[in-house]
Amino acid sequence: MTSNKKDYFQLAVKGVQALQPYQPGKPLDELEREYGITGAVKLASNENPLGPGAKVIAAIQANLSDITRYPDGNGFGLKQALVNKYPAIAINQITLGNGSNDVLEIIARAFVCESDEVIYSEYAFAVYPIVTQAIGAKAVVTPAKDWGHNLNAMLAAITNKTKLIFIANPNNPTGTWLDEETLGNFLSSIPSHVIVVLDEAYFEFAGHSKYGIEGYPDGIELLKEFDNLIVTRTFSKAYGLAGLRVGYAVANKDLTNILNRVRQPFNVNLLALKAAEVALSDTDYLDASAKLNHEQMKFVTDSFKSLGIDFIPSIGNFVCIKVDDAAACYENLLKHGIIVRPVANYGMQNYLRVSIGTATENQRFLDALKLLV
Ligand SMILES: *Cc1c(COP(=O)(O)O)cnc(C)c1O
Repeated sequence: MTSNKKDYFQLAVKGVQALQPYQPGKPLDELEREYGITGAVKLASNENPLGPGAKVIAAIQANLSDITRYPDGNGFGLKQALVNKYPAIAINQITLGNGSNDVLEIIARAFVCESDEVIYSEYAFAVYPIVTQAIGAKAVVTPAKDWGHNLNAMLAAITNKTKLIFIANPNNPTGTWLDEETLGNFLSSIPSHVIVVLDEAYFEFAGHSKYGIEGYPDGIELLKEFDNLIVTRTFSKAYGLAGLRVGYAVANKDLTNILNRVRQPFNVNLLALKAAEVALSDTDYLDASAKLNHEQMKFVTDSFKSLGIDFIPSIGNFVCIKVDDAAACYENLLKHGIIVRPVANYGMQNYLRVSIGTATENQRFLDALKLLV
């Protein structure tokens, strides 16, 4: 029998055949290798520009000799630290993930089958289409309103086949957000056979006690009222641990029980568990992250205004700017050693997403941008 590549493609399940691989931000060392430069700046993946905190590094070093052991499959230490920080939740409401990306996939695998429908918005986070299509379920994509979620359109799209609704607050890549009242009213209108996933990857910026946004909802508070809600958060952004991969879901204990059946037994590695536990208690680091983002978001967007560059107001640690030729602008920024994120794959052809960096990084980005627009 002969075989060729096409045969292998036919072997893949239908949903997977329709998938495109996730396009990550360009890694720094790839740019430096390809362009023969050093000291490049990456503002492409909404990472924390502060680098890891000293306490986290110490915790990782202190636990290095344990890596011959499997991690605690229940993640007790981290879950206990989460419960200490958020007294409204219990340990049996937490599902840990290898990044919140893992949790999003676990949710889809646990609840969605091929004949189900999953609703998310135009310009929504790229992982929602991936986890939906991998199952072969029907993706129902509602049109955006002012770049954000059109909740009325999402409500109208619900059928008896709807199983999940994904909402990111704020949304990535657009940075748009829903306030407490709007989101609460929406959740009150959702039938009980539908699970709403509220993705709060940027919660610690938008909901920070000092630098947060007035009226920004707290998903963990909403859980008291809404039983069919799953809130996801991550250590990748404000906590600065993107490379370690830790995230979590919080939901009622029955939903959590289901999620933990699908979860791989040791999905969060030993060093990540220890680092995340310490990161949670390092409030100085979190405050410094939120403060830097708050100040630098203002600096960057004020600069856009004085340069006459249109942008989409954002409450995350990133912002989308409008440029005439986004692909060319992206390439030219690369030549200046600056990596930003093209968002054409989101249907935003004339935009680039830029993460908020340190003052120095942002200044370098703006200096390069000035030469190009
Ligand atoms: C970055 C991000 C995530 C988190 O990804 P991790 O897997 O936790 O690193 C989840 N949702 C959104 C909307 C994001 O932007």
